[in-house]
Amino acid sequence: MCGICGKGKNTYLCKKCENKLKAQSIFGKDEYQDKYFDYHFYIFKYEKNIRSLILDYKFNEKPYLYKSFTTFFNKYQKKYLQIDFYDIILPVPIGKKRKKERGYNQSLLIARDIAKEINVKLEKNLLIKTENNIAQSSLDKNRKRAKCKECV
Ligand SMILES: [Zn+2]
Repeated sequence: MCGICGKGKNTYLCKKCENKLKAQSIFGKDEYQDKYFDYHFYIFKYEKNIRSLILDYKFNEKPYLYKSFTTFFNKYQKKYLQIDFYDIILPVPIGKKRKKERGYNQSLLIARDIAKEINVKLEKNLLIKTENNIAQSSLDKNRKRAKCKECV
C-alpha cells in the first residue's frame, strides 16, 4: 500500500502520489567553495505538503514513509542526479536521546535503502553525533541559515 495515501496494492508509492511528488520536484544543485562541501543536491523545496510529509516521517510515528521517499528517489535519481558514482553513503546520525524517543534514525532508513538500490557501501558509524542540538524543524528559516554560516 502507498505510504502516503494508504491506497493501492503492492506499491510503496502509488502513481497518483508519485505524480504529485514529481510535479513538486525541482532536482536542484547548489555548489559551494568551502572546506566541507563541494555541493549539495535536493529534490524538493521544504514547503507545503513536502514539509508535512517530512514532519510526519520524523515526528508522527510514520517510519514507513521512508519507503515511499526512496521509491521516488531511486526512480528519478538515475535520470537527474546519478549518485551511483560515490564511494560511500553516510546517513546523518541522531543523538541517543532522540533515537530513543523516535525509535529510528530517519536518515539511516533512507540511506540504507538507497545504498542497497544503487550498490554503494553504507557507512553508518563514521559520523558520530556529539551533542543534542535544537531540532532543525523547530528553527525558523533565518536561524537555519545563520547556523549553516557558523559551521563554515
Ligand atoms: Zn498514494
